[in-house]
Amino acid sequence: MERNNTSRRRFLRNLGLAGLSVPLISSGINCANEKKTNPQTMINGNKKAGKLGIALLGLGGYAGGQLAPALQSTEHCYLAGIVTGTPSKIPAWQSKYSIPGNNVYNYETFDKIKDNADIDIVYIVTPNALHKDFVIRAAQAGKHVICEKPMALSVEDCDEMIAACKKAGKLLSIGYRLHFEPHNLEMMRLGTKKIYGNIKKIGAGFGFTIGDPTQWRLKKALSGGGPLQDVGIYCVQGICYTTGLEPIAVTAQEGPKTDPDKFREVEQSLTWQFEMPGGIIAEGKSSYGQGMNFLKAEAEKGIFELTPAYNYSGQAGRTPEGTMNFPKINQQAKQMDAFALSIRNNQLSIVPGELGKRDVKIIAAIYEAMGTGKRITIN
Ligand code: NAD
Repeated sequence: MERNNTSRRRFLRNLGLAGLSVPLISSGINCANEKKTNPQTMINGNKKAGKLGIALLGLGGYAGGQLAPALQSTEHCYLAGIVTGTPSKIPAWQSKYSIPGNNVYNYETFDKIKDNADIDIVYIVTPNALHKDFVIRAAQAGKHVICEKPMALSVEDCDEMIAACKKAGKLLSIGYRLHFEPHNLEMMRLGTKKIYGNIKKIGAGFGFTIGDPTQWRLKKALSGGGPLQDVGIYCVQGICYTTGLEPIAVTAQEGPKTDPDKFREVEQSLTWQFEMPGGIIAEGKSSYGQGMNFLKAEAEKGIFELTPAYNYSGQAGRTPEGTMNFPKINQQAKQMDAFALSIRNNQLSIVPGELGKRDVKIIAAIYEAMGTGKRITIN
């Protein structure tokens, strides 16, 4: 366990999580104290031999379009159950993925999942504002949890979620799929190992033109904000994991609202500037009105970059030595398999709740800087 924790700490330090060592260590201790439930011994009527069972909670675009298909190619976990507030979705999901009736829950019956040995992990894939309550309920039901990004709408909520999982002796992981994608892993390696010398400047942008004006992403109470919460978070992540550093302070500016009706509650676009340790210049931008998708580091000995950087597939990268050449993988399958292995090996998640909380804290600072026009320090 100590050796695992040491190497995991080294790995997290490389990802810019050095400042998290204390909570991570304590959560590791918690994990080690957890009651041993060897998945191999839990095989029952519906359990697939040797695999951990995942229940998807919130059967919308991401769960149906990416996660459920990815779970058809995972080695260490499988789609065992569903939790939904929309009964009409159940028959199609059951027949497409052979989900038995006793592994189907709604939001009222969800807590009964504690009695279901088929389900080891609950994956929360609802609108952002609902993550907190479902994570806490899943932990209280004795399940490990994956929570989609952004983890929650406030640092206090993140603390409650982390505490609930610790209390239950369960692991919490965030749906940060790019930590398992080879081009992004290469950006982490090139930046943190200083392969092209110190990074002088780094830029990141992610945006798209949003459609349906009635969707939850445009409702502040459900989303917590606009493109920054939804896709700008990838830029925050990219800047941190490529430099291996966390911002000290931030300034930010909201972009113009060209469609004020649509963007009544949330920003349409924004840019921000991080003050990074060592004087690195870092700028991020995100938009619901303009397409962009890049992560670009300018180092002493040349530029390395990805564009597109953040999609589900099709990443393309360039270094001073030419184009990056990595195999195609399924990011979500890798992410979920890695978490299943963390559980099995009694190790922390590679993308733990503490990482989600760090990003929620940075996002809150960006919004404060945008709202006040002031430089906001980030503790
Ligand atoms: P979606 O709108 O397609 O699906 C949301 C689901 O939540 C729907 O099934 C809906 O019925 C359900 N829901 C429950 N309560 C709801 C409520 N009060 N209002 C609206 N819907 C409610 O959204 P999505 O794109 O699947 O996003 C879900 C979560 O996944 C979000 O947190 C989002 O940030 C995250 N996400 C992550 C990625 C990624 O690449 N990691 C990609 C897309 C979405």
